[in-house]
Amino acid sequence: MQDNWIKTTCPYCGVGCGVEANVSSDGQVTVRGDKSHPANLGRLCSKGLALGDTVIPDGRLLHPSINGERVNWQQALNHVSSKFASIVEEHGPDSVALYVSGQLLTEDYYVANKLMKGYIGTSNIDTNSRLCMSSAVAGHKRAFGTDTVPGCYQDFEVADLLVLTGSNLAWCHPVLFQRIKAAKEQRPDMKIVVIDPRRTDTCDIADMHLPVKPGTDVLLFNTLLAYLAKQNLHSPEYLERYTEGAEQALHAAHGDVPELGDLSDVCEILGLDGEILNRFLALFAETENTVTIYSQGVNQSTSGVDKVNAILNCHLLTGRIGKPGMGPFSITGQPNAMGGREVGGLANMLAAHMEFTEQQIAQVQTFWNAPSMAIQPGAKAVDLFDQISEGKIKAVWVMATNPVVSLPDADKVKQALKQCELVVVSDCIADTDTTRLAHVLLPARGWAEKSGTVTNSERRISRQRAIVPPTGEAMPDWWIICEVAKRMGFEQGFNFNSPAEIFEEHAALSGYENEGSRDFDISGMQGLAETEYDQLAPFQWPMATRGEVSLHKRFFAEGNFYTPSKRARLVPVKYRAPASGIDGKYPLVLNSGRIRDQWHTMTRTGLAAKLNAHIPEPFISVHPNTAKKYALEEQGLAHVESAHGSALVRVQVTDRVREDELFMPIHWTGVTSARARVGALVSPDVDALSGQPEFKYTPVSVQPW
Ligand code: SF4
Repeated sequence: MQDNWIKTTCPYCGVGCGVEANVSSDGQVTVRGDKSHPANLGRLCSKGLALGDTVIPDGRLLHPSINGERVNWQQALNHVSSKFASIVEEHGPDSVALYVSGQLLTEDYYVANKLMKGYIGTSNIDTNSRLCMSSAVAGHKRAFGTDTVPGCYQDFEVADLLVLTGSNLAWCHPVLFQRIKAAKEQRPDMKIVVIDPRRTDTCDIADMHLPVKPGTDVLLFNTLLAYLAKQNLHSPEYLERYTEGAEQALHAAHGDVPELGDLSDVCEILGLDGEILNRFLALFAETENTVTIYSQGVNQSTSGVDKVNAILNCHLLTGRIGKPGMGPFSITGQPNAMGGREVGGLANMLAAHMEFTEQQIAQVQTFWNAPSMAIQPGAKAVDLFDQISEGKIKAVWVMATNPVVSLPDADKVKQALKQCELVVVSDCIADTDTTRLAHVLLPARGWAEKSGTVTNSERRISRQRAIVPPTGEAMPDWWIICEVAKRMGFEQGFNFNSPAEIFEEHAALSGYENEGSRDFDISGMQGLAETEYDQLAPFQWPMATRGEVSLHKRFFAEGNFYTPSKRARLVPVKYRAPASGIDGKYPLVLNSGRIRDQWHTMTRTGLAAKLNAHIPEPFISVHPNTAKKYALEEQGLAHVESAHGSALVRVQVTDRVREDELFMPIHWTGVTSARARVGALVSPDVDALSGQPEFKYTPVSVQPW
């Protein structure tokens, strides 16, 4: 093996681990953790360690095609650009859409957003990140005025109390779990609380597990808020100097929890024992250095934004934010969900964390010299596919994602694409549920072949580097987008020759007329030569001045929020039950999530035999009493049905789930297993503010098959 280790970044979860990769003379890729990367300090989880096994040509999309016929790139690009142009000409800009992905690199995302919002003139570009963290974005913006994660991973290691809510870190963000576990071994007094309806592997290091009923987080954190106030643990000085809305938030919390002396009604709704609830309240109250980590279990809900603000309220009331070992922390699911947020990959945001205000629309338009600037938010993911179904959107370009599996009410999504006038899919994988419905297929480069940047959950921007030559005729996503844009007549805005040139423009826009008025600013990284960009070391934003000490960077240490008043807002929130309740026909609640060794729809992790060995089949977890009630047998097959669809899965009987609640993984597809797409079961109910679907609460029935 040649001693030529190339530094790059893991393409799976939002931890954003640094990877070193080595390619042998026969093309075999070997990986190891990058000890110099601040996110993982050399660690990798099972998925990261198996990356080398997945860099193989099996299953790759090799050539462009139109209606199943192989064509060359010129023909494919001409076809896509002329069809998009003619549909826009005939039906207007909102008749076309892009559905993109947290798997794209920031530079890909940047040009995709620029094409739609600045040149075609529509905001109909949304991302699969809508499904995992858009509630956190909306919650941050309500409280801070910006979408800012205020802390960093080191805070987890110096906190005295870590509250993990709606987060199975042990399986979904394993390297962070390893870091926390190591910190607790060093400091056994550090306390860990897990709030989750399931007793997941994350509970293995927990001092306390609160198995709440799904969907009740707002009530739990409102109870905590009222308790903190009653114990006089609010910080009057902090509230007076830096916040607004504390009184209203407390009033709303007291509406949910009128009598703190008797919490029996609250415990009934939460499904918790009073003793454990009181222990949690007391522990949070007495421990100043507290970090609350939250993820999909909070976000994927019709009250996801309220849940986020209920958590933020508790930190703001006590001033536990912006200091070492303190603060709320949203962990993102995908490797570049954060980078997508930074360049406006969500339909309701502009680039560089700018908003659809008159002033910021004008700023972006001027900076881009944009001929046709979008002036209002576009359709969010579920709405976007509804508009395809209704015929309002006539052409959609899906990039690096598989919505026929991952969106809720997935059979409806499938039907929508079947009747859409033009479906373009750019992907590195040939056969997916979504590529099967494409009129045009465009081969994109895979993880080991492409180059650019990604941002992890702690706002750290790292380079992803090409380590092997491209497979077939695959091209970088940014190049494909720019070539289509140029053919639509937009040469002036898309004459980029490399990701470094796109990064340069992105960095410049972040500082454009900023002067401290916006959180996202990496203008200090302008002016990098190609070689400097190639060698760019991981750094945390903001970076308005090159060389700022980014290590352990925090926001809000001195207040300085981005609301009009410059104060953080405590937002009044009230508990609401999930949108669709259980009934006689669908008496059980289905929860969904990831398993340890697979990623999304398994197109890459499914290539590694050792990862498949962990859990080889789609399954549902069922409590022993529920199994008995519905005559389900361990390892038998079960037919699960909701108001939207059905699935056939293996039964796993375990007391790790609550009675009358089921858990099913998200990974299996129509390609890998005939009937195990969890998305086909899930209701399209979404949070009214964030548009995030309720993946954690689907009323279902179950019977043996
Ligand atoms: Fe990759 Fe996430 Fe595992 Fe790190 S923790 S190696 S980023 S999957």
